[in-house]
Amino acid sequence: MRAAVYRGARTVVVEEVAVPEVGPGEVLLEVSHCGICGSDLHLMMEDWGRPGTIGGHEYSGVVVEVGADVDGWAPGDRAVGGPGPGCGTCRACRAGSPNLCATHPGPIMAGPGAFASYKLLAADRLFRVPDGVDLRTAALTEPLAVAWRGVRKAGAVAGMRALVTGAGPIGLLTVAALRASGVTEVTVSEPEEGRRTLAQRIGATEIVSPEDLEMPAMPMELVESPFDIAFDCSGRPDAMEAALNHLDRAGTLVLSGTGMRRPRFDANRIILNELVVTGTVEYTPGDYESALELLASGTLPTGALIEPEDVPLDGVQRAMERLVAGELAGKVLVAPHA
Ligand SMILES: [Zn+2]
Ligand SMILES: [Zn+2]
Repeated sequence: MRAAVYRGARTVVVEEVAVPEVGPGEVLLEVSHCGICGSDLHLMMEDWGRPGTIGGHEYSGVVVEVGADVDGWAPGDRAVGGPGPGCGTCRACRAGSPNLCATHPGPIMAGPGAFASYKLLAADRLFRVPDGVDLRTAALTEPLAVAWRGVRKAGAVAGMRALVTGAGPIGLLTVAALRASGVTEVTVSEPEEGRRTLAQRIGATEIVSPEDLEMPAMPMELVESPFDIAFDCSGRPDAMEAALNHLDRAGTLVLSGTGMRRPRFDANRIILNELVVTGTVEYTPGDYESALELLASGTLPTGALIEPEDVPLDGVQRAMERLVAGELAGKVLVAPHA
């Protein structure tokens, strides 16, 4: 089969590799679409990855082969790959957070990725794509589950005012998930023009630039129109600090963008206003089911979220370069069989 393989020095090359052998408890998926994630860019365009790596963890496809001891799946079934169930016995699993399982290898770590014709995975990581959701749209399940978990962590309900800093794919999906949760006031802070325009199309009610977010001088002082909940999807320390400083009393800040530089939070502000600062990492199987339901509901502006042009395997390198250069605002999908 063909795969887009990272060869070091910001280079991705299409190579012939062996189709994985299907073992007991495993399923082989013919990849339909696979999104390019920010973490793929870190791995391959910032050279965090090991040469020989095949990226891609936001994929949908069709089952072509089912291993021994697999129940409930047959060739022709439409599916997305997602989180495993966890060990079921550690403290995190028992508390309903298998994404924090002590033995958890994340989907990003689970074998070669889906920038390839086929993807092998454990059957317990397979989720059925609902009727009425095409496989192209279904490739949004993974990043949508990330956004959905953040929205859930914030306790978002109708009537709240929300701030989202950073309008990359996760930020945009957070806006969409907030709107789907009934939150009608969503302000987005984003410097880049293409992303600002897209955020507005997705449902942001106000777009601001990072420099417009004023900083109150004293820790008990609130900004003029504070937010009930805020989400940092940029990974930038200044954005995280601004998001915290714009919270109302008893507000919640959810951090989902990672970065190498650390924010400086004013502990007095957190104490005096009883603010909650939390993080989200990946998602649980339940978040995946919710994301698939949300896609099936047809209420998300999926057409606007996805870049109109799919990318073949030999276009992965160029697409990644364009993403790094900020030329593409929406989610870019790789279609290995195109
Ligand atoms: Zn991702
Ligand atoms: Zn566990």
